[in-house]
Amino acid sequence: MAAYLILLLIVSVAAAVAIRLVLKHRRRAALLRTRLTEAQRAIVATEVPLTRKLPARFHQALEGKINAFIGQVDFVGCNGLEVSEEMRLSIAAQACLLIVNSDTWYDHLTTILIYPAAFKSRQRQHNGYVVTERETVRSGESWSRGPVILSWADTRRGALNDRDGHNVVFHEFAHQIDDLSGHTDGLPNLPKGQSVAGWARTFVPAYQTHVQNVQAGHRTVFDAYGATGPEEFFAVAVETFFEKPAALNHHEPAVYRQLAQLFRLDPLSWG
Ligand SMILES: [Zn+2]
Repeated sequence: MAAYLILLLIVSVAAAVAIRLVLKHRRRAALLRTRLTEAQRAIVATEVPLTRKLPARFHQALEGKINAFIGQVDFVGCNGLEVSEEMRLSIAAQACLLIVNSDTWYDHLTTILIYPAAFKSRQRQHNGYVVTERETVRSGESWSRGPVILSWADTRRGALNDRDGHNVVFHEFAHQIDDLSGHTDGLPNLPKGQSVAGWARTFVPAYQTHVQNVQAGHRTVFDAYGATGPEEFFAVAVETFFEKPAALNHHEPAVYRQLAQLFRLDPLSWG
């Protein structure tokens, strides 16, 4: 009798979990088909001007992903910040721009903490579970299997200037994409047809050259911060790919090609 009851309990729990998963999947599928309202579309176009250069064939996918992202994530204001529609849409649009044409999804992301401006972080260790920026005052942070933390002032400024190669949302969400492989190490899950060997042949020497350049005091197409580690080089390269595609393709064509294959996007050809 006891064995029967235990079996019944296990079956009930499994069924409940399965039903929850199906409902979650259906909800996301419905959101992915949902377009933004006119007012939301106008906010995204103003706050994230790079979306205006995105070819029209990607617009529907971007809007659906923005809706699914906002449906999945809790946006939490810190230090008295009240989270607005503009903030949610700006962050979601930037994060989803990276994955607009790929099968990648931010599976583990449930929370984004937003500070009004650059914030002090108590986390100073880099222990494999968390990628932290070296400064104690930070514009962004990405935790492995955990939240993304953003300064709204830096998030907004990074989005409004889409040609300076600096975008804190692209940077932190590059870490989130990298982390989906199980390690935030500069090697993200690659799509079918893109080889790890090819990726390493490009990224390992590009990173080493970048470190040498930074040590020698030379400026390159990549931000010097990329020399901090392979995972930071990847995040910085993603910022450069979307905001300075021509310069990246000119100076580091192999890195450009690898990122174009990863994201299935070609920002060089955008208006
Ligand atoms: Zn970083």
